[in-house]
Formats: sequence, structure tokens, C-alpha cells
Amino acid sequence: MQLFAPSLAFVDLETTGTRAAADRITEVGIVRVDADAHGGPPRIHEWSSLVDPGIPIPPVIQSLTGITDAMVAGAPTFSRIAADIEERLADCVFVAHNARFDHGFLKHAFARIGRPFSARPLCTVRLSRRLFPDADGHGLDAVVARHGLTVTNRHRALGDARALWAFVEALYREIPAESIAEAVKRILRIPSLPPQLPADTLDRLPEAPGVYFFYGDNPLPVYIGKSINIRDRVSAHFAGDWRSETDLRLSQEIRRIEFEETAGELGALLREATLVKALLPALNRALRRKEEAGVLALADDGALRFLPAAAIDPAELAMNYGPYASRRSAREALRAIAAEHQLCWRRLGLEKRTSGPCFQRQLKRCAGACVGAEAPADHDRRVAAALAPSAIPRWPFAGPGIVTERNAARECVDVHVLQHWCWLGTARDEGDLAALLDAPPRPQFDIDVARLLVKRWTRGSLALVDVTRGSASPST
Ligand SMILES: [Zn+2]
Repeated sequence: MQLFAPSLAFVDLETTGTRAAADRITEVGIVRVDADAHGGPPRIHEWSSLVDPGIPIPPVIQSLTGITDAMVAGAPTFSRIAADIEERLADCVFVAHNARFDHGFLKHAFARIGRPFSARPLCTVRLSRRLFPDADGHGLDAVVARHGLTVTNRHRALGDARALWAFVEALYREIPAESIAEAVKRILRIPSLPPQLPADTLDRLPEAPGVYFFYGDNPLPVYIGKSINIRDRVSAHFAGDWRSETDLRLSQEIRRIEFEETAGELGALLREATLVKALLPALNRALRRKEEAGVLALADDGALRFLPAAAIDPAELAMNYGPYASRRSAREALRAIAAEHQLCWRRLGLEKRTSGPCFQRQLKRCAGACVGAEAPADHDRRVAAALAPSAIPRWPFAGPGIVTERNAARECVDVHVLQHWCWLGTARDEGDLAALLDAPPRPQFDIDVARLLVKRWTRGSLALVDVTRGSASPST
């Protein structure tokens, strides 16, 4: 039997309840299955232990599992068996029914004793659902009945862990191994690395924020991306199940991957935006729309005009609406708002005809500014209210502000200097910062940067500090 992974750990827990943060583990059962390197039958190690939860077990749970307060009274606490559990799960795919439950409980239990825990959980509910989409149920009882599994000690940890292993064994009798492997791969989203890349490529990447560069045969990158977790994001490019046209091209062209860490998400975005502009990687170019970003400005005649961002001074961005990726997307957004609020297409400048009811009015979706049924001032007030959520806020300071991102684990600090929702530069030490503040460059509008900054500011999650006054300014 060629198992889908060299080592599997079938895990089941009994607990005092269903909430991973508040409830505690009362029993752990693990069936570890290691494939034989020479093609013989797999080696199987079973282990289980009761756990003293340190809190009473509710009577209803006691009667379900048969595990009573008296039984766990002399059992080891979780901290005493944690090392044992770790060792038994090492290098295994973590297989459990409703894996999120067992995985979550273990994660919390380890966290409480200050130890990290990570595993690759494979949920047998999802596996069953994927392989037998038409089956009636995927609870453990349904699975046991459907596959005619012999199970003893249901609702005890080792009994249920054994049932899961029996389920996987039954699968290998019932369906081709390739179908099982394919289903597992999709559930785990195991990335298939392009064959020309070294097998340890992903392991070399940090699980940290930053930018990554995909290189082909040329000295310039073919693609630059950003993420708060470089390794995860790069894996996703190669995870078969949501392969896009770009990812397909990347897989063919890629020869090596490089990366640059940043202290946080904002730093990664700013770095990516700059690098993409400077290096114009072929595949980023293909993704980027050619259209020009801009904002909508409300004119005295009640019309909303599109202003290309390049044409306006960033200092005057505020109190316009947007930003929008293109003239067309601005128009689409405006039409949607018009429909929702019964606004007039003529007054908004969405149509050129100068007399008679506007197109919206003909559809009975305009309150009538075009035919004198609504006063222009009333209409314009409603426009401003409808657009208020997309109003670009006023820059709160007279001069630049800074946002500091720290990554304590990596001893990395980025100080981003910003003004008018534009990025002026990032300093990594006092000298850099002084230089940037002494002679700040002119703010240059970038739609991605502006969007992120405005979104965070509006939500109150941008810790922007006024450098001229040195005090933090909470957003309003
Ligand atoms: Zn109208």
C-alpha cells in the first residue's frame, strides 16, 4: 500500500466541551502509521493517555465519553505529556475527523504551556466529502457504517483514532491510490513546485512579511509579489487548484526565487509598489491595467468629474472621492450609487443630453433633478452623503507623518514617512530618517498605497505620528 504521505498521525481528543480556548483535553489518542521504506506493510504505533484537565468534566460529557472526574484525577497533566505528543506527531500529516477541532485544542493546550505547535491537519470529513460527494453524511458514525468498519470504544480517543485509520485503509481497498492522493493533495493544497526548482525552495523562504522575486533566465525578475507571509504566498502560486493564467506562465518561466523581508505589511506593499514601477517585470505588467487611476471631484454644477491622479497635486487629493483604478471604474461606481440613491444621471454628468428626463428618470430611478422635481441643491446634498464613505480624508498634519512597523522576532524596524496618503520613503535607522525629513521628496500618488493608507486610517488602524510635533494622532 502506497500511502499518501510517509508518516500519518491519526489523532483524536476527548475534551470537557467544544470551545478550544475555555475547555480542556481529557484524553489523547494517536495512531501513528509510518510507511515502510522497502514497500512492506506500514509500522503502526498506538498510544493514548488520559489527561487531568484541571477542571470538572460536565456530566453530559462524562456520560458521552465514559471519562469521569474520578478517572482523570490521577492522570498526568497536559504539560507532562506534551513532549510525548510532540514526538509522536513529528513529521506527520495530522489526520483527524473535524481536524480543526483537534488541531485547535492542541494549539491552545501547547500555547498555555508556552510551546509552539504547528501541524499540517488533514480533515477526514473533508476527505470523505471529496471522495464521496453524494454520500448522506460524513460524521464518524456515518463513515463507519458506510465502509463497514469494525470499531470498538467509540467516543474514546484511541477507539476513534483507530476508526480513522481503518477508514483510510478501507479507502485504499475501495478506490485507486491516485484518487486518494489527488483528494489529499487538494485538501492540503500541497504545492507542486515546478520541476526546475530545487526541492527545498519553499523551506528556504521565511514565514514573514516582505517581497519576493521570481526570476527566469534574465537578470531582471519576471514577477514581483508581496505578502505578510512570503512562504505561504509563494506556495499558493504553485498550488494546483487555483492556478491562474499568470501562475501557469510563472511555473514555466521561473528558474529561481529571491526575497526581501520587511518589518510589516505596509512595508511590503510600499516596497512592492516601488520595485514594480522601477523594474516593470513582464508578468506584473501583464496584470496591471493600462488605465490611469484617479479621483472624482464634485463640481459646482453638481457633476462629478474624473481627475487623473497624475494631473492633481496630492495635497489636493483630500475631499475628492475614490481613488478609482480607472475612469471606467469611477463611472461604474458612480452609476451604482446613482441607482441606489435615485440620483440624476444628467446632473451627475453621466449623460450628455441637455433636456427632458434623464435615462434614470425614464426608468423611474431618478428622483427628478432633471425635470425640476428635486431642487439642485437638495440633489447635490444627497450626492455628497451617498459618496461620503468614499471621500478621501484630509491629511491630518501640516507636514509628513510616520508609521513605524516592528518585527521583534527578526529585530527589524521600518519607519515609513508619509504625506498626503503618499509614501515619501522608509528609514531603517535615525540617520535615514533625519535625511528623509530634512529633504522630503515630493509626494507621488500611487493608488495601491493611497488605498491601503486611507482604508487603515478610516478604520482607525493606522498608527500615524506627526513628526513635527512628535505626538501620536489617533484617527477620527
Ligand atoms: Zn434625472
